[in-house]
Amino acid sequence: MMRVAVFGSTGSIGISTLDVLARHPGRFAVAALAASSNYERLLEQCVTHRPPVAVMQDPRSAAKLAAGLKAAGVPTRVHAGNDALVDIASSGEVDTVMAAIVGAAGLPSTLAAARSGKRVLIANKESLVVAGPLLVDAARASGAALVPIDSEHNAVFQCMPGMLETGRQVPGVRRILLTASGGPFLRHSRERMAQATPDEACAHPRWRMGRKISVDSATMMNKGLELIEACVLFGMEPRGVEVVVHPQSIVHSLVEYVDGSILAQLGNPDMRTPIAHALGWPERIPSGVESLDLVAAARLDFEAPDLERFPALVVTRAAAAAGGTVPAVLNAANEVAVSAFLAGRLGFLGIVELIESVVARHANRGATGLDDVLEADRWAREQAGSMLASVATA
Ligand code: NAD
Ligand code: MG
Repeated sequence: MMRVAVFGSTGSIGISTLDVLARHPGRFAVAALAASSNYERLLEQCVTHRPPVAVMQDPRSAAKLAAGLKAAGVPTRVHAGNDALVDIASSGEVDTVMAAIVGAAGLPSTLAAARSGKRVLIANKESLVVAGPLLVDAARASGAALVPIDSEHNAVFQCMPGMLETGRQVPGVRRILLTASGGPFLRHSRERMAQATPDEACAHPRWRMGRKISVDSATMMNKGLELIEACVLFGMEPRGVEVVVHPQSIVHSLVEYVDGSILAQLGNPDMRTPIAHALGWPERIPSGVESLDLVAAARLDFEAPDLERFPALVVTRAAAAAGGTVPAVLNAANEVAVSAFLAGRLGFLGIVELIESVVARHANRGATGLDDVLEADRWAREQAGSMLASVATA
């Protein structure tokens, strides 16, 4: 029995993960559930999946969850705060951690799981962007397996049959081609994007996801973060990773080898496929996803991304090449900008503009130790916050 902790269980990836786990009751046990503050949903999940322990980041929500569990007669223990996540990620009671918290907030628990030799199913791309080399080194030292959940990276992983060592380039690989749906504004002019509302930005044409990653998809910051993620996971230089717009989201990414062969992974756009792949790996297990009807899909289109309308791809590629503390700064500025946009305090085009301004002011520390990246993250949030405040008062 594989004991699985699901961090971010009330979110889009967390819910899909529990759906897959529930299809294999003899194979997986839910060892822990954790979320930020949605105690009603976490209570339902505890009643259904009976984990020994549950964590709410927010103490007040934790108290409400504990009361609800008591009333329902469910013996799940409840903890509050971030330290509890690190303890669970490191505990001998857990074999596998689904890292599906959104944002750099997921870094401490993801890193703890990597340091403790777990199988880490890594959806939390921001932690790979902020502290990629640290996570890879921790996994190497402990023997942890970092299995990508992001659909593109999981596709690449599937197209690298020999790939076992995270962060080392597989011999014979020439290029990685990351596919991008292009998001809801693929055909919008910059003038139209300037008027975009949070609900429009979150109406993704192919995937149902949390609001932060949905906005990232609309700016194409998501693909930029994924470029950095691919360099970290597969030991590639940024120039070896290309972005191709593929509006149907059926080809989830491709790997080109030096002999000219290109391998691709295809399937319906449903995150239960990469989740089941990563849970079962190296075996294949059912995910609940329907067969792809290639005849009904009929065509697969590919086009180059428009860097004028999607400057996020330019700033992220530069950050990937710079390395050091720049990716952490880029990520933190993006998190601040996206929440300001979702709160109606920043226009859509202001997101990438704010990121560019913060990155331009940053003196790269070069290093990627935990203290360096946490300090860079803190600095970038402060900078972005004060720039936002000056925009608001201007
Ligand atoms: P979501 O907003 O739907 O869910 C986020 C989850 O994290 C929630 O359960 C929330 O309670 C929890 N959380 C947030 N902050 C927390 C904290 N400080 N402590 C504990 N829990 C916290 O987001 P999502 O769409 O499920 O995305 C999760 C991660 O997976 C993101 O990093 C995203 O980029 C990545 N991802 C998502 C998808 C997708 O299809 N949704 C695809 C690829 C990658
Ligand atoms: Mg993705």
